[in-house]
Amino acid sequence: MPTIATQGLQFREPLIFERSSSGRRAASLPASATSATGEVAIPAALLRKSAPAWPEVSEPEAVRHFLRLSQQNYSIDTGMFPLGSCTMKYNPKINEEVVSLPGIAGCHPYQTEDQVQGELALLWALERLLCEIAGMDRATLQPCAGAAGEFTGLLIIRAYHLHRGEAQRDTVIVPDSSHGTNPATAARCGFKTVSIPSNSRGRVDLDVLRAAVGPNTAGIMLTNPNTVGVFEGDISEVAKIVHDAGGLLYMDGANMNAILGVTRPGDMGFDVMHYNLHKTMSTPHGGGGPGCGPVAVKEFLAPFLPRPTVIREGDRYRWESDLPLSIGKVHGYHGNFGIAARAYAYIRTQGAEGLREVSERAVLNANYLASLIQEAYTLPFGSRCMHEFVLSADRQKALGVSALDVAKRLMDFGFYPPTIYFPLIVKECMMIEPTETETPETVREFAEAMLQIAREAETNPDLPRSAPHHTPVSRLDETTAARNPVLAYNCCA
Ligand SMILES: *Cc1c(COP(=O)(O)O)cnc(C)c1O
Repeated sequence: MPTIATQGLQFREPLIFERSSSGRRAASLPASATSATGEVAIPAALLRKSAPAWPEVSEPEAVRHFLRLSQQNYSIDTGMFPLGSCTMKYNPKINEEVVSLPGIAGCHPYQTEDQVQGELALLWALERLLCEIAGMDRATLQPCAGAAGEFTGLLIIRAYHLHRGEAQRDTVIVPDSSHGTNPATAARCGFKTVSIPSNSRGRVDLDVLRAAVGPNTAGIMLTNPNTVGVFEGDISEVAKIVHDAGGLLYMDGANMNAILGVTRPGDMGFDVMHYNLHKTMSTPHGGGGPGCGPVAVKEFLAPFLPRPTVIREGDRYRWESDLPLSIGKVHGYHGNFGIAARAYAYIRTQGAEGLREVSERAVLNANYLASLIQEAYTLPFGSRCMHEFVLSADRQKALGVSALDVAKRLMDFGFYPPTIYFPLIVKECMMIEPTETETPETVREFAEAMLQIAREAETNPDLPRSAPHHTPVSRLDETTAARNPVLAYNCCA
């Protein structure tokens, strides 16, 4: 809680529990929950014996409490996220209006096919759109996050090899710049992983790859553009090397924001990919869900997709569960329908031209920002990038100010801290992705903050080192916060 020191008077805002006063109420409820016969509808065994120890407050106190909490939160509606689509890019409000329509908000997975023809039509159309954008043939909307999509995709690859009697294909290749979920997914699906180093341009080294593939190769996991914001220009050659060895190509689609309407993973030679609708298609995130990580595949892998899939027959839609080679279900019911509906709204409001413009602007903004800060920070792979770039705060670190300090200090300037210390191949790494929705003015403001922090590192390093100074709480002990979180008032008293 903020402490206000005014002329010697220390004032700490009371917590809502401390404001409690017996008998005060924020709501008026009916006298009791009784049935038509006058009996209490709740079984006696489920009735609590004593009142809960909740704060008793008035309506304005309750409203102020929650509004104040919301104001202490950072959000995409209050400021920029410098690792945009990956963390959060702007969610257009029309998405929320669409998902609030009664037919969408009120539907239930147990309704019969007859009753949800509109919802099935939406899911079918979204699948078609995602396949068109990716250059793929069929997709599942079940996975609830990118990592869940990876899991689904690699289970499909495993099922494919097993179906062909190639059980010895037990190894998945990942570049050393890959997202941690890639090797984790491969391991979770029972594969061994081989990590291959990137070359000095941040790309897959073809000779290293040639030496790495063999009869045990199940596939390779890549994201293109890759995590250092560099497009793998040799992707066709990469595909040929892996395919010639009998392996498949998995595309981690987390960076689709860079290539919408410009190029397609399917055309690059990828066989399977996931989208992160909560990244590229502007839907809310959520800790591993409720997001949506659809997996799209080439036709030859369609028999292995999770079931059921949506089928259109004439002008009717139905669930198809008769898929004997399917890997099974990867989510309860049909995935996060509300997220799918938002993504559908986003894609339709952008249209084909709009999606291309999203990527063109995202790339332009990233290059603009890189050019504005390149004099003060090291850009290990140069200042030309796709939708994101990585920088190193190594020069600041030499002055005693780490990437962590820079990120913390950004909060004082009203920016969310970007992802730091990832990818692991760059020292004092910071990942920056302004996205398409930020104006040139905002991009310049962010650059100005970064340059200011670089100046502080030279003139007053203690300032960034002790940041943030203007947030509700200052620097936290992050290890203790993660290992021993205090989540309730007085919970440990
Ligand atoms: C975000 C991300 C993932 C994981 O996606 P989640 O939806 O967070 O599970 C995987 N790979 C890359 C490159 C990412 O950026």
